[in-house]
Amino acid sequence: MRFLITAGPTREPIDPVRYISNRSSGKMGYAIAEVALEAGHDVVLISGPVNLDPPRGAHLISILTTDEIYDAVHQHAHGCDVLVMCAAVADYKPKNVSATKIKKRDASLSLELFPTRDILSSLQNKDRQFLVVGFAAETNDLEANAQRKLQTKHCDVIVANDVSRADSGMESDQNEVTIFFRSGETKNISRAPKKIIARELVKIFSKYARKMFDKKNVVITERV
Ligand code: C5P
Repeated sequence: MRFLITAGPTREPIDPVRYISNRSSGKMGYAIAEVALEAGHDVVLISGPVNLDPPRGAHLISILTTDEIYDAVHQHAHGCDVLVMCAAVADYKPKNVSATKIKKRDASLSLELFPTRDILSSLQNKDRQFLVVGFAAETNDLEANAQRKLQTKHCDVIVANDVSRADSGMESDQNEVTIFFRSGETKNISRAPKKIIARELVKIFSKYARKMFDKKNVVITERV
């Protein structure tokens, strides 16, 4: 199968030297890419700025901003069987980007933020021929928020993790996730290294994609 995976943070510029970003390390997305390649799948990896070597064999597309990731996903989604939106995409960006470095003054400074375009919500929902997996990093009300994202972002699967814990989730090498399926099922993968979690996830995604596409009679390309 062909996996399109996004990973890492985005950077939304404020001026030529400053930006808004988040703590995403890209480890979970890179682990999914690595495992998918090991399982014989093709991988296009759209990555924000991270300190990780790209897995051998992945087609890497490096991006910085939400707008760039939006364009890259739209360019490549039609050719994939599984889209995994693991990137921690910024929800807001500065409304105006200063062309010159903003000077320090003694007064307070306000930045006006503008919502970014939601990539998942922008994908065509009807008769889509690829599985859409969203990620939800939550500090509270994990289940309710994940279920809402499943519906509003038209995802087939949401992988939710609790990022309020210091020992798993963002930046950590470990993770613990709950998977919510559109069919109503849920599945928990208990705390483990991200590579182990990725192995389970890739198995689940390919099985679920196969089930969906079998129903729709879509031929899935396999590498031999
Ligand atoms: O609502 P929230 O940002 O927590 O949703 C997370 C999911 O939505 C992730 O899969 C992320 O990649 C995706 N996302 C998106 N476009 C955005 C922001 C987040 O597709 N602008």
